Amino acid sequence: MPHALTELKVHTVTKPAGTASHQLEADVCVVGAGVSGISAAIESAQLGRDVVLVDSLPVLGGQMVNSLIGLFCGVYGNGPGYRQLTHGIFADLEASGDLHVNRGHTITVTYDEVALGRWVERRIRELGIRVVLGASITGVERDGRRIAAVSFATRHGAVRVTAPGFVDATGDAALAWEAGLPCRVPERTIYGSQQIVLEHLHEEHQPDREELAEHVHAKAAEWGLVRRDGLAFFFPGRNTAVLNMTHIPAPLDPVEASAAQLDGREQADRVVEFLRAEYPKAFGEAKVRSYGLPGRRQTRWIKGSHQLSLDEVRAGTRFEDAVARTAWPIELHAKVGAMAGPWLGGVILDAGLGARGAFIVFSVCPAVMVLVLFALGRVQRRLPAEAEGALSAELPATGVAAARPAVQI
Ligand SMILES: Cc1cc2nc3c(=O)[nH]c(=O)nc-3n(C[C@H](O)[C@H](O)[C@H](O)COP(=O)(O)OP(=O)(O)OC[C@H]3O[C@@H](n4cnc5c(N)ncnc54)[C@H](O)[C@@H]3O)c2cc1C
Repeated sequence: MPHALTELKVHTVTKPAGTASHQLEADVCVVGAGVSGISAAIESAQLGRDVVLVDSLPVLGGQMVNSLIGLFCGVYGNGPGYRQLTHGIFADLEASGDLHVNRGHTITVTYDEVALGRWVERRIRELGIRVVLGASITGVERDGRRIAAVSFATRHGAVRVTAPGFVDATGDAALAWEAGLPCRVPERTIYGSQQIVLEHLHEEHQPDREELAEHVHAKAAEWGLVRRDGLAFFFPGRNTAVLNMTHIPAPLDPVEASAAQLDGREQADRVVEFLRAEYPKAFGEAKVRSYGLPGRRQTRWIKGSHQLSLDEVRAGTRFEDAVARTAWPIELHAKVGAMAGPWLGGVILDAGLGARGAFIVFSVCPAVMVLVLFALGRVQRRLPAEAEGALSAELPATGVAAARPAVQI
């Protein structure tokens, strides 16, 4: 009897001449499948649009899944009302026990990144959204001020997508940049972080958050720790925690970005050594379960029609066409080693894009707060916390929301 391998027939193939690219047409092409792009794609599909969702990573979820961010912030308003501002995904993940709501003056929501990643994948499939993964932008064709087509390189060949609408949800304004549209960059470095998930912890001995931050600060030089105000987010009942205790640059230069990634891992390892030695009861048996992809904060963003200023936030300036909402203090990662001010407690920020979608991504740089989402993105309305109860207009529930960066994260 012949061996199965001898029955495997093969033949020779050669790449055909010419531009053998895959051509796709859609109503909306969303570039970037992080929390912003996922939200844009889901909302567009729910409005009956034919959507193509593209990302340079081979998986969906962007940073929230693959950089192990670990927390949703700004989902709830601050005290005394603590009103939930964003729904959708939260009900689903809460039902499966994959969310934990941390109640304090500000409320954060810890999530299981594996469950979140699968939620995203299932939702995208249910809605019939076509996905092109492992695809990086190689070219943009413009028709005047509009983007008409975008080309991507994948390991399986070139892909070209035409659509009347494109969404730049790349986090780095990569689509706008490649299209030759004006972008903005901070004049100081804004640091990202190398996140890790630790397992085999003893959460009953976990240090108090403030005590940990103070201890890290005191011992940072001795242990060679770069960031001096680290945070460990435990997921109750699982003896795991996400560590946000590093500060790494997030350059736009490809070689420097790759070097920063490796530096970040070294930093993370030093943090683990520190925790094992200084908190043996909680961290003595800690093992790194996973290293996230580099976490990036404010890198480059689209020059929008309006740039929200710090003064506007402080004044609680209202805009008429808000479609989304988040609540969070402002933070700034512009100083290596620690989170720098200004801190603005209890800002509720409603952001919108002139569409029904409620996907919010904002960043803060010195004296400037910016919506980073798309070319059209504008922060449109925000209220001080005390005005929260007075809000009457219900904004649409969305699948997901993200604040970038919103608090000491
Ligand atoms: C350490 C850290 C902690 C944070 N903590 C929190 C927190 O607690 N709560 C919170 O709400 N927010 C937090 N943030 C901010 C949060 O991570 C971001 O706001 C959010 O994840 C950004 O989502 P996004 O979809 O805009 O971008 P991303 O998640 O970065 O997604 C962009 C996607 O675009 C793709 N892409 C980029 N360039 C190209 C290209 N040229 N071609 C094709 N695809 C491309 C990328 O692969 C990526 O998947 C944190 C950020 C960091 C770094």
